Amino acid sequence: MPGVTLDVTLCECFARDGLQHEPQFVPTAAKRALVERFAALGFPRVEATSYSNPKVVPQFADASDLLKSIQRKPGVFYKATCANVKAVERAVADLDAGYGANELSLLVSATESHTQRNLNRTRAGQWQNIAEMVAAADGRFRLVGTISVAFGCPFEGKVDPGVVLSDMESFARLGVEYVALGDTTGMATPRSVKNMVSRLEGGNLVTIAHFHDTRGTGLVNYVAAYEAGVRHFDASFGGVGGHPAKLKYGGGHTGNVCTEDLVSLFESMGIATGIDLDGLLATAQLCEQALGRELHGRVTRSGLNPLRPLRA
Ligand code: ZN
Repeated sequence: MPGVTLDVTLCECFARDGLQHEPQFVPTAAKRALVERFAALGFPRVEATSYSNPKVVPQFADASDLLKSIQRKPGVFYKATCANVKAVERAVADLDAGYGANELSLLVSATESHTQRNLNRTRAGQWQNIAEMVAAADGRFRLVGTISVAFGCPFEGKVDPGVVLSDMESFARLGVEYVALGDTTGMATPRSVKNMVSRLEGGNLVTIAHFHDTRGTGLVNYVAAYEAGVRHFDASFGGVGGHPAKLKYGGGHTGNVCTEDLVSLFESMGIATGIDLDGLLATAQLCEQALGRELHGRVTRSGLNPLRPLRA
């Protein structure tokens, strides 16, 4: 949107984080339509897919086909998640073929137990894997490091913010410019968020808040992060996605913060998101249609806050 200064940068995560644990395969054409719609709505970052092993995550078996089909909007970053060097090599091959993602995300967990359960490795092993993935990416993508369980671990409880900070430094040393802090099972509070953000060093590293609404604290934590100075936020239409409910932790609502509710809240606070509000709720409904069920967005049913400031 030329001439409009955005106060925050939102990433729409429905097509990857959202669909990751959906049992039904969403057809490539439907994914394509949604990803293109998210970009058209004004999201400067859109999670598009994951280069997962199709046998493990069949939902993303169409990663390359999807990326090939998406009509790109200039200036938008389309993110693909990579779990290992082979995934990065697929991303490079797609880039060479002219339709790759321009942003890759690489994941670590802040605790040994979660790393073992989620990634089946030690933390040291995962950092070695990250270093190899960064080398394979060869500076051709914007890289986003993600730190899971940054605010609390379902297996170990409290997480030392010092570990998270040291992981951020490790990402920075590898040349990663963006780091998402994941509140994987919704254990963060506004207080722990502000404490963490106040300890972040300056420098070039951009912090992205990726909080889950497992305990209904997603929005308040995002406001806390905003007030503490964070300007990048991840969310998913309908609150779809998050961590796998079938793993034995954090049952119930496992999900991401609802994009439509976050946009409505920020706009109501006078914080410019750059998102086309006229198309917001219709898009939320398209996401519901894609999954064939009603999702968690509140404003999808109640409407946007009528007291939100009007845009000039
Ligand atoms: Zn998430």
